[in-house]
Amino acid sequence: MSHALLSPSASHRWLECPPSVRLTEFMEDKSSAYADEGTLAHSIAENKLKSYLGYTNDFIECEDTSMNEYTDDYVTFVAEQMSVLENPSAYVEQRVDCSKYVPKCFGTCDALIISDGVLHICDLKYGSGVKVDAVGNDQLRIYALGAFEMFSCLYDISTVRMSIFQPRLSHSDTWEISIDELLKWANEVLAPAAKQAWNGEGEFKAGDHCRFCKAKEMCRKRAEYNLELARYDFEPPATLDNTEISAILAKADELVSWVTDVKEYALRQALSGVTYDGFKVVEGRSNRKYTDENAVVDTVKAAGFDPYEHSVLGITAMTALLGKKKFTELLGGLIEKPQGKPTLVPMSDKRPAINTANEDFKEEN
Ligand code: SF4
Repeated sequence: MSHALLSPSASHRWLECPPSVRLTEFMEDKSSAYADEGTLAHSIAENKLKSYLGYTNDFIECEDTSMNEYTDDYVTFVAEQMSVLENPSAYVEQRVDCSKYVPKCFGTCDALIISDGVLHICDLKYGSGVKVDAVGNDQLRIYALGAFEMFSCLYDISTVRMSIFQPRLSHSDTWEISIDELLKWANEVLAPAAKQAWNGEGEFKAGDHCRFCKAKEMCRKRAEYNLELARYDFEPPATLDNTEISAILAKADELVSWVTDVKEYALRQALSGVTYDGFKVVEGRSNRKYTDENAVVDTVKAAGFDPYEHSVLGITAMTALLGKKKFTELLGGLIEKPQGKPTLVPMSDKRPAINTANEDFKEEN
């Protein structure tokens, strides 16, 4: 699959850090098994949506029960979005040209629905790691701009609706803005940053967007950003106060992720012959294992013992075995979600705060 240099999917990164584009242009892209799974899910979803809309009679068999159900859910979601519009037209996997604002940029809208007045982009996210919101989503805004350029001569569009559908997290989110707001953002924010990125100009800026950058392990800006914490000017007294601890917490996740990236990169380099002063590569700890499991089973059985342990499948494996619908039908009443372990998170996190001992004490008094 070819990608634009300034791709919509990476736009959050290059809008924050424009020079990262040229810095990483020729760096290797490590496509993961997760990406391959996402590509397969998108082809299945595309095929199902096209057959739902009557655009094809071909049917692609999906052998993965969960993927089959998740892609069914996606089709239902798109159908629901269409049902609230009058005489909607739907375009599936529609390629759109976004180069009016971003040089040589194009993108593909998973589902694009248009009816008079409204343009609606639906984006299927098959990942289950990070929940993605539609509000303020740069990728969707760029798709919407491309779609607007393509269809504004045919439809009178005043409202842009953008949805993320993330079935594996049971998550969907929709954001609506006026076309004027979208065009203002395109002219005032997107186009200037895209121009800088294309020309390799602008300021390097580190942040949570770095985790998707191919330079994340070696980038000097990211190192400086994280090492700022190590240089934190701790004043007497000998213990940290709450303000200082807040400052550390605010950067802790990013710091841990940066250190992990640097360690993994350095190990890969060391294994290919690079040496780092004061470090050597050794064998990690390992556990004993059987050399031949079948022989172990035969030997233990012959000695009159049962070599197997019997345990119930975990929820994920059981869902994969039964499929989501059957799982809910058979086991829905036997599932509970215990209270999660308390976690300290930034105020921007959407989960409601839980009562702490301090608040309980205040209530009692
Ligand atoms: S790692 Fe972060 S700061 Fe460095 S180039 Fe990439 S996005 Fe920019």
